[in-house]
Amino acid sequence: MAKKLTTGFGKPVDNDQNSQTAGPNGPVLMQDVHLLEKLGHFDRERIPERVVHAKGAGAHGYFEVTADVTPYTKAAFLSEIGKKTEVFARFSTVGGEKGSADAERDPRGFAIKFYTEEGNYDMTGNNTPVFFIRDPLKFADFIHTQKRNPKTNLKDPDMFWDFLSLTPESVHQVTVLFSDRGTPATYRNMNGYSSHSYVWTNAAGEQFYVQYHFKTEQGIKNFTAAEADAMKAKDPDHATRDLFEAIERGDFPVWRLEMQIMPVAEAEDYRFDVLDITKVWPHADYPPIVIGRMVLDRNPENYFAEVEQSAFNPSNFVPGIGPSADKMLQGRLFSYHDTHLHRLGTNYHLLPINAPKNAPMASYQRDGAMRHDANGGDGPNYWPNSMGGPAPDPSSADPGMPVTGAIGRTEYTHPNDDFVQPRALFRDVMTAEDRDHLISNIVGHLSNAQERIRLRSCAVFYKVDPEYGTRVAEGVGVDVAEVKRLAAMSAEDRAAATA
Ligand code: NDP
Repeated sequence: MAKKLTTGFGKPVDNDQNSQTAGPNGPVLMQDVHLLEKLGHFDRERIPERVVHAKGAGAHGYFEVTADVTPYTKAAFLSEIGKKTEVFARFSTVGGEKGSADAERDPRGFAIKFYTEEGNYDMTGNNTPVFFIRDPLKFADFIHTQKRNPKTNLKDPDMFWDFLSLTPESVHQVTVLFSDRGTPATYRNMNGYSSHSYVWTNAAGEQFYVQYHFKTEQGIKNFTAAEADAMKAKDPDHATRDLFEAIERGDFPVWRLEMQIMPVAEAEDYRFDVLDITKVWPHADYPPIVIGRMVLDRNPENYFAEVEQSAFNPSNFVPGIGPSADKMLQGRLFSYHDTHLHRLGTNYHLLPINAPKNAPMASYQRDGAMRHDANGGDGPNYWPNSMGGPAPDPSSADPGMPVTGAIGRTEYTHPNDDFVQPRALFRDVMTAEDRDHLISNIVGHLSNAQERIRLRSCAVFYKVDPEYGTRVAEGVGVDVAEVKRLAAMSAEDRAAATA
C-alpha cells in the first residue's frame, strides 16, 4: 500500500484533487487549510538565485591522499597516504542565470567541500588558473559588465569589452577564456585550479605558499565556438546531464590533485607576485607534485537540498591551511559567507549539505531564523563560562604572517607586467590551431562592440603580442596603425584617447 499523504504538519489528507467548496459549484472555502498550505508553500519555493555561479551541477565522492605532505601541512585530512575524506563538488558557469546554457563561453566554477574531522574545508576554484581582476573593489563592476544591460536587459558587448580593455590586467584571463578552454565539452573534461595562493603550515610552524591544480583524468576536451553554439541550441543542460549520467552508469570522474609549493621566504624575491591572481607560477619554477585524487561516485538524491542549498565558502579553513594576503581572496573571505546569509539564511551552516558531518559542531551561536537543531540545548550560551561549555583550543592556531607598511589604497607593487604571462600562453603554449580559434572566438564577440572600444581592446592584445593584436584588429575591421599607436601609450593615455 502507498504511503499515506499528509499535510506539512503530518495530518492525513483525505482528498488531493478537489478543493473544498460550498456546494459542488460554489466558491472555494477559506477553511480548506490543505489547499491554503499547498498554495502558500508553492508561492515561496524560489530562493534568491546566486548572483554568480547560478547554474550548476554537483556530486558526492571522496578525496584520497596519495603522497606524504606532512612536511608542508598539518591538516589532519592530509596526514596519511591512503586517507580518504568525503567530499561534495559543484561545477558551474559564472555569468548566466539559473536557466542559462551550460555551453556558454564563461569560466567554470570548481568548488569542493571536504568534510574533514577538523570541520569543513572548502576549495572554491575555477577551471582557469588566473582571474580578470586582482582587487575585490572591482568585482561588482566586473560582474555587471558580464550580465545584462540595465536598459535593454540584453548581454552587451560594449559593456563587456569597455571594462576589460580599461582593465588591462584582465588580458591573461581573457586569453584563456577566448581559447577553446572557455567552452569545456563537459564538467568532467576540465581542470580545476585554486587560482589563489594559499598558505600551508606544518606541525613545526613552517609556512608555504601553495596553489592547487585538480587535473582531469578524463582528459581536457573543449568545444569549438561552433560546437558550443550548436550544443546551446540542442541541449542547454548538456554538462549537467553528462555529469549525472556518467555517475549513474558507474563511470566515476577522477581528478588528480597536483600542488605547487613554495617556502614563504622565496616569495619576496620571486619574479612574479604570488598574491596577484592574474599570474600563475610557471611550472618550470615550481613543478606540480601529485598528492591525491578526487573521485565523484554518487549523485545527489535531491537537487535543491544538495546542490542548490550547498554553500561553499573560501573562508572555511582547517588548521594547517589558511589564506594568503591575495586581495581578491581577502574579499572572497567576506563575500561568500555574506551572500549565503542572504540567499539561505542565518543558519545555512546547519543544512545537512553544509553541516560539518565528520566533526562535532560546538559553538556559542544561538537562535536565528530556521534554527532547526537542538540550538545548544541547555548548555551555556556565552564564553568564558565555568559551566563546562566548549573551550577554544590554542593549539589549532596557525602562526600569523608578518605584515608591514602604511594603510592606504595601493596598486600591486611587485615589479612585473601584465603581458608577460599571456604572451607565454599565446606564443609558447598554444598551437597554431589554438591561436586561430582564439582569434576567431574574440573576433566573433568583439565585432559587436563600438569602434573605439574595438580599437582599445586590440591595443591591449597588441601589447601581449603584435601578431595577436594585428590579427584581431584585421578581424574586427579597425586600423592596425591606430592600434599600434594606442598600444604604445600608457593605460591612462589610451583610455583618454578612446574615451
Ligand atoms: P607550461 O608549458 O609548463 O604549462 C602550460 C599549461 O598551460 C599547461 O598546464 C596546460 O594545461 C595549460 N594550457 C594549455 N592550453 C591552455 C589554454 N588554452 N588556456 C589555458 N591553459 C592552457 O608553461 P608555464 O607553467 O611556464 O606557463 C605558461 C603559460 O601557461 C602561463 O603563462 C599560463 O598562461 C598558462 N598556464 C600555466 C599554468 C601554471 O600553473 N603554470 C596553468 C595553466 C595555464 P594541461 O596540463 O591541461 O595541458
